[in-house]
Amino acid sequence: MKTVPETFGILVFDDRVMKARLSSKVYNAMKNTIDGGHRLDNAVADAVAEAMKEWAIEKGATHFTHWFQPMTGITAEKHDSFISPSPDGGVIMEFSGKELIKGEPDASSFPSGGLRATFEARGYTAWDPTSYAFIKDKTLCIPTAFCSYSGEALDKKTPLLRSMQALNKQALRVLKLFGNEEVSAVRTSVGPEQEYFLVDAEMAKKRPDLLFCGRTLFGSKPPKGQELDDHYFGVIKPRVQAYMNELNEELWKLGILAKTEHNEVAPAQHELAPIYSTTNVATDHNQLTMEIMQKIAKKHGLVCLLHEKPFAGVNGSGKHNNWSMATNTGVNLLTPGETPYENAQFLLFLCAVIQAVDDYQGLLRASVATAGNDHRLGANEAPPAVISMFLGDELTAILDAIEQDKPYEGTEKTVMKLGVHVLPKFVRDTTDRNRTSPFAFTGNKFEFRMLGSSNSIACANIMLNAAVAESLKQYADALEGKADFEGELHKLIKKTIKEHKRIIFNGNGYDDAWIKEATEERGLLNLRTTPDTQEVVIEKKSVDLLTSHKIMSETELRSRYEITLENYVKTVSIEAMTMIDMTKKLILPAIESYSTSVASSLAAKLSVVSELSGAYERKKLAKLSELEEQIDCALGALENTMVEIKTVDDIKTAAETIRDKVLPEMAELRLPCDEAEAMTAKSYWPMPTYDDLLFGVR
Ligand code: ADP
Ligand code: MG
Repeated sequence: MKTVPETFGILVFDDRVMKARLSSKVYNAMKNTIDGGHRLDNAVADAVAEAMKEWAIEKGATHFTHWFQPMTGITAEKHDSFISPSPDGGVIMEFSGKELIKGEPDASSFPSGGLRATFEARGYTAWDPTSYAFIKDKTLCIPTAFCSYSGEALDKKTPLLRSMQALNKQALRVLKLFGNEEVSAVRTSVGPEQEYFLVDAEMAKKRPDLLFCGRTLFGSKPPKGQELDDHYFGVIKPRVQAYMNELNEELWKLGILAKTEHNEVAPAQHELAPIYSTTNVATDHNQLTMEIMQKIAKKHGLVCLLHEKPFAGVNGSGKHNNWSMATNTGVNLLTPGETPYENAQFLLFLCAVIQAVDDYQGLLRASVATAGNDHRLGANEAPPAVISMFLGDELTAILDAIEQDKPYEGTEKTVMKLGVHVLPKFVRDTTDRNRTSPFAFTGNKFEFRMLGSSNSIACANIMLNAAVAESLKQYADALEGKADFEGELHKLIKKTIKEHKRIIFNGNGYDDAWIKEATEERGLLNLRTTPDTQEVVIEKKSVDLLTSHKIMSETELRSRYEITLENYVKTVSIEAMTMIDMTKKLILPAIESYSTSVASSLAAKLSVVSELSGAYERKKLAKLSELEEQIDCALGALENTMVEIKTVDDIKTAAETIRDKVLPEMAELRLPCDEAEAMTAKSYWPMPTYDDLLFGVR
């Protein structure tokens, strides 16, 4: 058996392979492209393509594909085989630089959110050499960006790369002010922690809601849930362990640094965290991870649920986006420094994030908005829909001291060095572990915890990078060319703290009192549902931000607004239709058969025992019949609304109808169904219940 170091990355055309297989001239040209963004000339592209093809064929690949991330949030690929006819009637395996660099998939069937109306349907994919090519299912996958012919981004990668560039540009300006001349690039890095559920595939098959919607639409609460917290970090069951082992192996072969795995709080819930990498690569890897998680699950007779809320009343799944900025010289800009001067730089970058999150809280919230995540945010296991930041007591006290020109009286480990430089020296705070904040500082990075488990991390990082780039730009504008740099810097930091401290909150984010304080006293946004969030996306402030940093054009932004709402409407509509179908075909008939059996037991008692017997059956029948009537009534209302909504053209109105009518009516229908489930004999219930699903994998 091979060791992990031997198999790690064997399916990746990574730096090791390039070094070994490319001439030094071609290799250096590739490196320049990857590190410095220089264009590749055709001869180099041809040489890289040839080496890639040879390598892929040796690994058993027969096809290649441009692998991209359309706005559906999942990945897309169109396979082409390497074969090309040869004059002697045989075939040769071919792959040119042209095919490597550019592809032309038919763009018309991907969502474009109105872009299609304005522009040509045709699109093209363009190689992203900063993310390594890899082999999946005998296919060489080339990570690419996906654009329309007129240049509009039709994917999530293009704006992500642009946002990284924008942040790089502004961060370099700021670093120069601190005398960092040797730094030539600043990159953002991300480590996404991925939560998921595993359920038995045979059971899942019997639940149309799991099959079509990835979440249960019915189900009464099991007698045992997560009350005992006995699942969290508990012993991993053998079947799950076998799954995790194979998952790790597959991810490692693809060069994905899967590092930790453990049980989560809810039964059947687990987490996988990779070691962090550059945002662009982390995004590609997270997409691949989600795909492979589902694929491996099938092999083990399991279904991997990535939905944010597969089970009502049980913790949902999120994705923690650990984010920071680092220089190409290896300095994490969010690490508190050793010297006052380093600390001043750290504090300025910290301020940039604080200001960014406060100024663009709506946009950040909007970037994680989906129908699924709406169920999770603000439930008792996930951050609320209000964005705030956790900094910890020590850092907050330092910011307070700066704001109020007071000496900083920290704990013993804190050393004050006011005077030499204007800012205090402090030691990083390692004690605080706030788990309820949507955006928490965790020592040398921020953890954005609002992302849903099925979200592509691209959207959140585009907005985060954009917002931080904007604060950095403002700082560079204010400080460049100033004679008294330190004085100006101090003033700037002080001003930023004063203006943006409302976003800092170190308390319990799950507390209702906080929501009241946040919205009523601090004026923070509470955008509870997806339709609530989307107006922010197209308001002038957002458009200005994204266009001025050349991350998205107004048209691109509008297309995303449309797609988010379209997805919301479609997702919930499918759920509603599935509910209607399940109610009619499974639930009502089950209640009927069970009632019939109760009725026959009643009849038997009446004839055998006495005419006054059967009180239990009578009560039960009456209740079941009452529930059936409630179900029928709720079903009728939902059916009517679903007919109505088909006539609504405007996407905003449709989304609002979903929020205000469809979702409440779905809840109304679920209630009596769940109640009926709780009183129906198990052998009559037509699908696995919550206990079966949550405790069924051993
Ligand atoms: P938690 O305590 O939140 O469960 P974990 O240790 O499970 O933390 O996960 C932390 C994640 O943060 C890992 O994916 C890790 O690689 C990532 N991480 C660590 N340092 C950085 C950094 N500088 N930038 C981005 N991500 C980071
Ligand atoms: Mg975490």
